Amino acid sequence: MRVFLALILLWLAFLSFATTYSIELAVETDGTFVGKALVCTSVEPGQRELLFRLYPNAFGPFVKLTEAWSGEAPLHMDSVEPTVWVIHLPEGGTQTATIQLRFEGRLPKELLGYGIFAQTSFTMTLSQFYPILAPWDGEWRVYPAFPFGDNVVAEVADYTVELTLPADFLPVGSGEENFRSGKWRISGEKLREFGLVLVRGYESLSSVWQEIPLRVFFPPSLRPAAEKAIKVTQEALDIYTEKLGDFPYPDLDMVIVPLASAGGVEYPRLILIGEKYALNPESEIFAEIVAHELAHQWWYGEVGVDQVREPWLDEALATYTSSLYFEAKGKLQEKVVEWRYRYERAKRLNPAATVGSALWEFPSGQGYSGYVYAGGALFLHETRELLGDALFFSALRSFREKFRWRLAQGAELLELFSEINPEVASLVRKYFGKD
Ligand SMILES: [Zn+2]
Repeated sequence: MRVFLALILLWLAFLSFATTYSIELAVETDGTFVGKALVCTSVEPGQRELLFRLYPNAFGPFVKLTEAWSGEAPLHMDSVEPTVWVIHLPEGGTQTATIQLRFEGRLPKELLGYGIFAQTSFTMTLSQFYPILAPWDGEWRVYPAFPFGDNVVAEVADYTVELTLPADFLPVGSGEENFRSGKWRISGEKLREFGLVLVRGYESLSSVWQEIPLRVFFPPSLRPAAEKAIKVTQEALDIYTEKLGDFPYPDLDMVIVPLASAGGVEYPRLILIGEKYALNPESEIFAEIVAHELAHQWWYGEVGVDQVREPWLDEALATYTSSLYFEAKGKLQEKVVEWRYRYERAKRLNPAATVGSALWEFPSGQGYSGYVYAGGALFLHETRELLGDALFFSALRSFREKFRWRLAQGAELLELFSEINPEVASLVRKYFGKD
């Protein structure tokens, strides 16, 4: 009985920490939108405000909050930086806050940054269109937005999103899509963020991998890329799940869209693939994009990362995990040679940085991918050689287990490796140390 009670208490404690978003969004053909978000979250003693991020504003004034209230009472809000909005909670706070936010915005018609918040002839990519609650761990984990790298730092939450769209658009989002009485409804649990793309004139291809539905949405001329994306995903899932354990989500969607300075972008249960790479689906880079973004479902989606302070953590893990797909084709050594070249080049470009550097240590992105992706993957590769496969992958599984649906710290992964073999310390010095 006591155990039973303890379990109930644990369950209640867990419930009080799950943030929920109920979002209503109406999008017009011209790319303007209005929305309302009902956010329910736990509040710790002493917490007087909630901080929300409007990430698209890193590139211009694209989204704004117009109103905030709780119950009947309006809440005071101010913007301290275009991407950071403070909502002041009412006095005499409780353990949970339920607040409503009204927001509006417009999608630019050009691809800014990665091009993940943009309207083109056949797509509306709505990444981070809504106010995203910043993580609180005794203080707000908030940084200025950088024009490169991934900037989202968030805890997982449960989402229900109701969409009113122009009739010819179909939504593809982080969750299960349903159409009822003229509205689309998408819901998903334990999502680090809610990814959303609207497409028109697209076709889709479906497949199933061990009861996990896989779908690709693509412009009709790019069917070969969609077929290849499914094939790579199926093969990579066989390999990743054997090494890392089960796939973290109930399904996965992929959408081929125009992107700018990115080959692909990851969201929970959703992957964007850059259209220009889909023109040549038999190229190695195309398979690499799919394999890399798929690996992010574990590293970023399930195991959260502070992508600004420790961008190496999910990028190195995703890069190394994706190389397992190439290893199965006898191409791991090729990858290692490529990483060495990119890492050495990054060291020449930005000698002050290390693999463990934060985003702000890469002025205008100098050396970023060479250190974070290539150098980080080299570190993991050399660690694997030192520990052997069995211990290396069991350490990755332990790390995953420990930080499932939470924000992880890189130091914990390094410690896990070092506990297995103290000689890892010299690799840590080599890749993370500053001379
Ligand atoms: Zn990545």
